[in-house]
Amino acid sequence: MNQYFNELGIDLDDTMIKQFEIFYQLLIDENEKYNLTAITDLKDVYIKHFLDSVLIQKLDFSMNGKHVIDIGTGAGFPAIPLKIVNPDMRITGLDALNKRIGFIKMVQEKLNLKDIELIHGRAEDFGQMPKYREKYDFAVSRAVAELRLLLELVMPFVNINGYFIAYKSLKTKTELEDASYSLSEMKSKLIDIVEFKLPEDYGTRDMMIIQKMGNINKKYPRKPGTPKKSPL
Ligand code: SAH
Repeated sequence: MNQYFNELGIDLDDTMIKQFEIFYQLLIDENEKYNLTAITDLKDVYIKHFLDSVLIQKLDFSMNGKHVIDIGTGAGFPAIPLKIVNPDMRITGLDALNKRIGFIKMVQEKLNLKDIELIHGRAEDFGQMPKYREKYDFAVSRAVAELRLLLELVMPFVNINGYFIAYKSLKTKTELEDASYSLSEMKSKLIDIVEFKLPEDYGTRDMMIIQKMGNINKKYPRKPGTPKKSPL
């Protein structure tokens, strides 16, 4: 499976290879107890979850040594693969489902990963807390919500001048058009959209690079549920 990483120019050392193997096994074993992923075939997991998560490595900045948050991390995507390939990254994974957070805690232990904080909670609540607000160099998020809603959940965590990398595909253009008001309320601007091709016929991935330019009004994020009910 590691040839897929090599082909993209992402080098894995022996520790990383082993960590991905253990992560795969845990995902399959625990998936039988509770729903973590619909994808279980070895090759599918390696490409659609692991490789897709680390495509960020191909962008022009390094996350190693940086403080990163993954909003709606689920079973740990992209947080865990990113942490595996960036051992010096400090990463926070946040999700509203406690079972998924419990799973990642188990992964963290078995993979012996340091500098990971796992939070069971809603982005709307944590984005208002001084300990988490404007504390991250980068935020990432995959398969959580449409962009205009996602921005309200994510941007409060990001430092001024920090970046949000949104994992998108298919509806990237439409979502961007719908998000112009949200972008301005979140004092953010689109820097670039970088398109990647996954190997073989696994489709494409768009990385939207969004930068935070200034302070966001304290009323954001609104109460849990409100961003979804009336997205900006
Ligand atoms: N990022 C993962 C999981 C996507 S599923 C992946 O790509 O595989 C979406 C996840 O977002 C779910 O686990 C859900 O619990 C979480 N989520 C949705 N809205 C949220 C919110 N407002 N706060 C925290 N987590 C949220």
